[in-house]
Amino acid sequence: MTASEFDLIARYFAGDIARALPARHDVLLGIGDDAALLAPPPGMALAVSVDTLVAGVHFPDNTDAAAIGHKALAVNLSDLAAMGAEPAWVTLAISLPACATFPREAWLTDFAHSFFALAKQHGVQLVGGDTTRGPLSITVQAMGFVPEDEAMTRREAQVGDAIFVTGTVGDAALGLRLVQGRCPADIPPPVKQTLIARLERPEPRVAAGLALRGLASAAIDVSDGLGADLGHILAASGVGADVQVSQLPRSQAFVSMLGEDDWTLAANAGDDYELCFTVAALHQQAVRQRLDALGLRITRVGEIGATPGLRWRDDTGRELDLTVAGYDHFSAASTRETS
Ligand code: ADP
Ligand code: MG
Repeated sequence: MTASEFDLIARYFAGDIARALPARHDVLLGIGDDAALLAPPPGMALAVSVDTLVAGVHFPDNTDAAAIGHKALAVNLSDLAAMGAEPAWVTLAISLPACATFPREAWLTDFAHSFFALAKQHGVQLVGGDTTRGPLSITVQAMGFVPEDEAMTRREAQVGDAIFVTGTVGDAALGLRLVQGRCPADIPPPVKQTLIARLERPEPRVAAGLALRGLASAAIDVSDGLGADLGHILAASGVGADVQVSQLPRSQAFVSMLGEDDWTLAANAGDDYELCFTVAALHQQAVRQRLDALGLRITRVGEIGATPGLRWRDDTGRELDLTVAGYDHFSAASTRETS
């Protein structure tokens, strides 16, 4: 590590911006040594997740640093939420261009402020990381706690379970079209702002994940699209699903842009970071009560069945062909619009 990298860490990741957050008592040793020393609560499983955001792949090159700082943390907290884990600690590996045209200090100021604002909201502490030169890329690892027998995996959806989705789906994909200028010019500014915020400032559904502990049979966060992500639950659980497209929850902003009859984007677009989860009949009322208490909308979109595969259906039960593949970095036919 060069002296200037050391300065950057001291200033942006261990300095005043970070110190404005309360220190966690379970961090025995944080940033500054060869490794952090952490004390997980006895009896809890440690949930660990890591995600990398690469400029030009996961966000357009011109995305502002504040949006990246928020999203890099949010997508990892979303993974913990989908396990029912309570976030505690994060590490951050960041690779920054050294070229003269990249405004490193200004970029880091904006990045750090919004990263730590979200960290504060969820009570998580940055406990270490790595800082290197290279193409802009950000890797966040998030760690949290969950009672082992209450973790929500993808593996235990059962035939007859209802399938639910939090919030609305498809908004982030429209946000991306807007930032890329691929939309009509006459979209009202409030609609634009709403949809771009859904792309750049996803709200990880941490409280919902905690509320679903012990109630949901399986859960996943919607990062690659509802069809693709629900498909992971189905494959891991060895079951199938019938989803009623008219039930897919879409925001007013979404409907105002695409009209009432466009389902494809809501079914397949990624980046919304909502939770998709399955619940046995026995627990459905408790789930509704707990999520109501959080003020978070949930929508029942379909049901788990025995026949493998995902079937989209209209209100008469007729099967619709809405399925496009989720985003796969190594697939030539990748469909994600950020790539
Ligand atoms: P080492 O050479 O032992 O790998 P480094 O010089 O890379 O250590 O980092 C020094 C300290 O700063 C370590 O505690 C490391 O976890 C922390 N650190 C480095 N980069 C970051 C970062 N981007 N965010 C948070 N902590 C960081
Ligand atoms: Mg290092």
